[in-house]
Amino acid sequence: TKFSDLNLNPKVLKAIEEAGYTQPTPIQEGAIPPALEGRDVLGIAQTGTGKTASFTLPMLSLLARGRARARMPRSLVLCPTRELAAQVAENFDTYSKHLKLTKALLIGGVSFKEQDKLIDKGVDVLIATPGRLIDHFERGKLILSDVKVMVVDEADRMLDMGFIPDIERIFGFTNPLTRQTLFFSATMAPEIERITNTFLSNPAKVEV
Ligand code: AMP
Repeated sequence: TKFSDLNLNPKVLKAIEEAGYTQPTPIQEGAIPPALEGRDVLGIAQTGTGKTASFTLPMLSLLARGRARARMPRSLVLCPTRELAAQVAENFDTYSKHLKLTKALLIGGVSFKEQDKLIDKGVDVLIATPGRLIDHFERGKLILSDVKVMVVDEADRMLDMGFIPDIERIFGFTNPLTRQTLFFSATMAPEIERITNTFLSNPAKVEV
C-alpha cells in the first residue's frame, strides 16, 4: 500500500511526501481507511509504530474543509503528558503545513491568557492534557459540543496517571451523536476496555 492509495486529502499527502515518508506503517494502513470513513477506531499500538500520524493524517483530511467558530474547537486530541502533547502539536504542524487550519496546545504550566486568546479565535485542532482542558472548560470559555473528531492517545498511560475519571468527564462534554472517536492504547487493561465499550461505537479494531 502507498499513501496515495489511502484517500487522504491531497495537501496532506503532499506534506507526507515532503516529510520523506514513502510507505504507511501497519497501524497507519489499518487505522487511516476506517477513520476516513467516519468510523471510530480502537488502535492498539506502542510508541514508535507511527501511531501519531495514524490519527493525525485522517483527522486533518476530515477537517481540511471548514473553519472553527470562536470557542468551539472542531477536534480534540487528549495526551497524558505535556511532552507528548507538544510532540503531537509538532506532528500537526508538519502534516498541516499546506492547509489553513488552526491549532491550540492547552497544557499546564503555561498562563491561561495566551491559551484563552487562541480559543477565542477559533481552533480546528485542540491538543491538550486532561487537567488543563477541564480547567478551561470549568472557566466556561470552552465549548466542546462541536468536536467532530476526538482522539485519546496513550490511554494506558492515562490510566497509570489516574486520568480515567477526567477522560470520562471530557467525553461527557462532547456530543456522542456527532463525535467520531479515535482511541489509542498500548495495552487493553480491563479499565481501558470498559471505557472503550462505553464511549466507542462499533470501532474498527486495529492491533499491531
Ligand atoms: P510515533 O509512533 O507516532 O511516535 O512515530 C514514530 C516516528 O516515526 C516519528 O518520528 C514519525 O515521524 C515517524 N513516522 C511515522 N510514520 C512514518 C512513515 N510512514 N514512514 C516513515 N516514518 C514515519
